[in-house]
Amino acid sequence: MIYGQIGNIELVKQLNSAVVYGLIDQQGPISRIQIAELSQLAPASITKITRQLLERGLIQEVEQQASTGGRRAVSIITENRPFHTVAVRLGRNGATITLYNLSGKSIAEESCLLPERTQQALEKGLLTAIGNFINTYQHKIRELIAIAVSLPGLIDPENGVVKYMPHISVDNWQLGNIISECFNVRCFIGHDIRSLALAEHYFGATQDCEDSMLIRIHRGTGAGFIINGQIFLGKNRNVGEIGHIQVEPLGERCYCGNFGCLETIASNSAIEQRVRHMLSQGYNSKLTPDDCGIVAICKAANKGDELAVKVLNDVGHQLGKAISIAINLFNPQKVVISGDITIAEKTLLNAIQRCVDNQVLINFRTNLPIVISQLDHRSAIGSFALVKRAMLNGILLQHLMGENND
Ligand SMILES: [Zn+2]
Repeated sequence: MIYGQIGNIELVKQLNSAVVYGLIDQQGPISRIQIAELSQLAPASITKITRQLLERGLIQEVEQQASTGGRRAVSIITENRPFHTVAVRLGRNGATITLYNLSGKSIAEESCLLPERTQQALEKGLLTAIGNFINTYQHKIRELIAIAVSLPGLIDPENGVVKYMPHISVDNWQLGNIISECFNVRCFIGHDIRSLALAEHYFGATQDCEDSMLIRIHRGTGAGFIINGQIFLGKNRNVGEIGHIQVEPLGERCYCGNFGCLETIASNSAIEQRVRHMLSQGYNSKLTPDDCGIVAICKAANKGDELAVKVLNDVGHQLGKAISIAINLFNPQKVVISGDITIAEKTLLNAIQRCVDNQVLINFRTNLPIVISQLDHRSAIGSFALVKRAMLNGILLQHLMGENND
């Protein structure tokens, strides 16, 4: 377990601080009395913890005119501006690196190519890119509290180890420790789609619910599940491989070795290839073989282009089948669809909804919103969500408050 090395007293301190900080973060401006009521912690503990948080600059006091007039009450809010995170979304050919303050505001962003094909070369390229980014934006960074990286593959988030990546061979890649030692700061590593689902919960479409699922269509199809406000992850770690649900028994061969997996149909390249193939067969369309990227296809569908609508309808139908299975299994409060394909929101969501209406238990689909993402799926916001989580669960918070906080 995560807390294996921490003594019980330390753990209780960490959790109490996290509860207080979390209440101030989510409900501030809030008074100490309200914090005591909501947290059920003793007022003396609240006084002590808020004093430590104040000393560290993580919260600030604001004077509020009490609504009943006259007396001024002191309320507390979090202080987000001086604390910075470098968040990295590592893709197959490059990385997006973003500087966030603790409120999730993007301060600076750069994309860079990292076409390295071995673990060693990628590690070197990534460390250089992060180092250059920090140097470039040094003047905007008050205190760097963490670096976070999200990437596709199989990840051990507790130990910051990358076990598998889809496009290069890795051998127990201790990326978290390596970055942490190189830049002398805490580092958090997570899976890109699951991190995005968490970001949606903190900052996007699923802030109003505890159980949700996010499906991202990009190079493949993946899913992230949020259960009770936490990323759903088992002992075997990898979950949500929705892209490898078979939707076409006589379909194309998938890279996983099976046939007719969802992502042989619902991925950007599969959609583009299908349109190109149909154009070559003489289907009537405004699209041309030279201009049929996913964005162009979605825009054509929005203008009523018959070929684009047909193809996206079919993709939506296949997605809908797999999503219906997932809803029947997990009974979420909301489903979020993410990826460039959501540009064709209406066509896509209608096709998915038709499947859900026919294939999901009525109790599970009643009042179940299926919506498009509010966050840019190409950004590093998912990585930043890992840092936000470490503040709210106390792991990073306790680290920032230091050991001598008695
Ligand atoms: Zn497959």
